[in-house]
Amino acid sequence: MSDELGDWRKTHYTKDVNPDIAGEEVIVGGWIRNYRDLGGLKFLNLQDKYGERQITLKKGVVSDEIFDKTEVGYQYCVMIKGKVKAFKKAPGGVEIIPSELKILNKTPEKLPIDMTGESVSALDLRLDNRALDLRSLRNQAIFEIRGQVLRSIRKFLFSEHFTEMTTPKIIGSATEGGTELFPIMYFDKEAFLTQSAQLYKEQLSGVYERVFELSPCFRAEKSHTRRHLCEIFVLDIEMAFADMSDVLKILEGLIHNVIKDVREYNMNALEFLNMEKETTVPEIPFPRYKYEEIIDMVSSKFNIPLEFGEDIPTEAYRKLGEELQGYYYITHWPMEIKPFYIMPSKNPKYSESFDLQKGWLELTSGGTRVHNRKQLEQALEDKGLNPEAFESHLKIFDYGMPPHAGVGLGIARWITMICGLEDIREAVMFPRTPDRLTP
Ligand code: ATP
Ligand code: MG
Repeated sequence: MSDELGDWRKTHYTKDVNPDIAGEEVIVGGWIRNYRDLGGLKFLNLQDKYGERQITLKKGVVSDEIFDKTEVGYQYCVMIKGKVKAFKKAPGGVEIIPSELKILNKTPEKLPIDMTGESVSALDLRLDNRALDLRSLRNQAIFEIRGQVLRSIRKFLFSEHFTEMTTPKIIGSATEGGTELFPIMYFDKEAFLTQSAQLYKEQLSGVYERVFELSPCFRAEKSHTRRHLCEIFVLDIEMAFADMSDVLKILEGLIHNVIKDVREYNMNALEFLNMEKETTVPEIPFPRYKYEEIIDMVSSKFNIPLEFGEDIPTEAYRKLGEELQGYYYITHWPMEIKPFYIMPSKNPKYSESFDLQKGWLELTSGGTRVHNRKQLEQALEDKGLNPEAFESHLKIFDYGMPPHAGVGLGIARWITMICGLEDIREAVMFPRTPDRLTP
């Protein structure tokens, strides 16, 4: 039988139980991360969404009733009423001496994954039990940082006069003519899950001038890598009256400011992940390399011959990442491997496009867009796409579309880097991959 919640409500989260309130009575609640029973002495580690505090039960100090009742297991859901006592050696410099305990829900004796923090279970097993796994201290650190990153992105972009937009995720036709689309049934018609906010963000840059969105995109890629997901969460930015150089500046300013905030507000989480020395505020401006310089470097230094027009293979990126460990831009990609909406450079062999890299990993792609309708129609045809299928997009370009440029940043890729994760699936609460659709 478990206890009822009744009229008990939390008075404090664990983070607010500190030596300043020693002597006060508090009600806290959460889950038992760990416990020790030393006969006459019991310790519980009670964890909530912010962290943990130690509950100490000493026979003779607490009532016999609560001492005997405190038979708990891992991840029992409990609430505790008790007095705060300063104790340097415990988390937060305090312990709580309980007067009452409610066991709200119990768990089986053996949990599917280790929740004590003493070991890390295999990732697939953890993902199978994700809502449980997310309570781990490690995940608490990762998702605290992710939360701060999203907050800081918004803060920074609002301060730069951006408007937050929301664009549809169900679309009638392919954004880039790619094959990586998930088809769905839209009543009796076929539709698709969006693969990027590209066309809508361009249109809205002709309205609100500076726009951004944080939203999901869907990529039907059967990639089994440690950096690809089928559902991704992307920061999309588009700026009117601007070109690629403006986006490079905004983006490096954003990265710089967000990491600064993470270091200011989440240093404990960074330390927990052993990333406090690696995730440092990057100097701006970021180094800029032209695509051609990069393929030269890859060919001469790492002996991986690359022809102009080839995508950079993973193996080459890995080597590059050893050489260039920080954030850097790769600009002026061959036009032939860029989508139709990217502006060609003066020499049309190149394009006004860029990727932002962190070490070996691509974080973003962006560039200046074509804003002239005729040029856009030609570009579509050059890519083998039918301009008529894009009419509802193209006609907006007849009505005063300003020159514009933008970028898309994969949030999970960035979190992977900030938190020093080995696999992108760790950076997402419920990852979607070719072979994972649940939970
Ligand atoms: P890649 O070449 O690494 O597969 P991409 O060039 O196809 O990526 P873009 O279309 O440029 O990706 O998407 C913009 C950003 O979204 C990327 O820079 C990356 O951060 C992120 N992204 C794209 N595809 C994925 C994916 N399948 N999983 C996770 N993040 C992704
Ligand atoms: Mg890209």
